[in-house]
Amino acid sequence: MEKVILIKYGELSTKKDNINFFLNKLKVNILESLKGIEARIDYDLGRMFIHTNDIDKAIERVKKVFGIHEFNICYIIESNDFEEISSTALSLLKDKEFKTFKVESRRANKKLPETSIELSRKMGGVILKNIPDIKVDVHNPDILINIEYRLNNTLIYFDKIAGLGGYPVGTLGKGLLMLSGGIDSPVAGYLTMKRGVKIEAIYFESPPHTSIEAKNKVISLARILASYNHEINLHIINFTEIQESIYKNIPHDYLITIMRRMMYRISAIISHNRNCKILINGESIGQVASQTLTSMNAINEVVSMPVIRPLACFDKLDIIDIAKKIDTYDTSILPFEDCCTIFVPKHPVINPDKKRCEEYEKLIPYEDLIYGCIKNHEVLKITKEENKEYGDLL
Ligand code: ATP
Ligand code: MG
Repeated sequence: MEKVILIKYGELSTKKDNINFFLNKLKVNILESLKGIEARIDYDLGRMFIHTNDIDKAIERVKKVFGIHEFNICYIIESNDFEEISSTALSLLKDKEFKTFKVESRRANKKLPETSIELSRKMGGVILKNIPDIKVDVHNPDILINIEYRLNNTLIYFDKIAGLGGYPVGTLGKGLLMLSGGIDSPVAGYLTMKRGVKIEAIYFESPPHTSIEAKNKVISLARILASYNHEINLHIINFTEIQESIYKNIPHDYLITIMRRMMYRISAIISHNRNCKILINGESIGQVASQTLTSMNAINEVVSMPVIRPLACFDKLDIIDIAKKIDTYDTSILPFEDCCTIFVPKHPVINPDKKRCEEYEKLIPYEDLIYGCIKNHEVLKITKEENKEYGDLL
């Protein structure tokens, strides 16, 4: 008998035509997440198996791989022999505490004489006879005993462990996440990765108005995201000159609108250069002045590519719940200001006028400034490993 991790795909199984592409990517991503642990993976259209000597460590890693609906610790018996299967099941159940149980059988090997229901009943009978003070409960059992009779072997497994769901990262191409030090954008990145999108990230800093701590905070957030995604290129844009130029030349109620139009323009160019098909950000309808519908229009019009806002319709409290679950919250609330918060005017315009945006932008040489900061920008390769604190320069 071999002890393995059994992976179930869930939502993936709806991808009929290109299922093999998805499964192969899932396999590659799992192997990547298991780096440093000796492991082998095989799969068919319904099930994937991880063979490894370090099951506990492997489980912790697999919990952070997108595209897995649920997984189980599973025992493989190399036959369909009922005696062997029932005695194995009994010895495994010895270590478990339960008062009620249910046996669920699947019979992929249609040559077996009994139906699945008959097999479940037969196994239930053996268990009742051998373990005292327990009974069957088909509706709400303490333990579910799954037995799958396959063509060449039989699987026994009990409790399921929930996976993250979604699609394997990379199956849907690449997007550029506008990553600030706030609570929202890391959550937006996480939700997009869950849809199978690999991400690169872009951060706008304005030294000396923003501190090195603010930058390190964004690097830490990128690293937490990298633990789901393996590796994230973080583009760091020095935004100081643009920001100061806007501050000096443009009426202050339009500061944020124009600043965000510049961020979008720069992000779109980096996306184009890095083959990213979408921009992703943490905007949420109504959260601040720059996130009214009129503001979104005035800001969005400077780019022609899709801008995905996974949090557009989320309440802040729901966003915070996810941030805590994915472990970014504690880092996000560290008190280091990023460039938006420093240049916030007292009364930002709530309904910016597009024509006025264009007029104001003529007051600064923004195309040259954008070109300058893209040309000189820094790229960090962020990995999940702590010891590569600042990544390797690309
Ligand atoms: P908070 O969680 O405090 O709302 P936030 O990062 O969402 O923080 P917003 O002012 O709401 O801050 O910004 C909206 C979105 O714009 C962010 O979610 C992020 O995607 C993008 N953004 C803002 N500032 C930056 C920045 N300095 N670098 C990169 N992206 C930024
Ligand atoms: Mg926000």
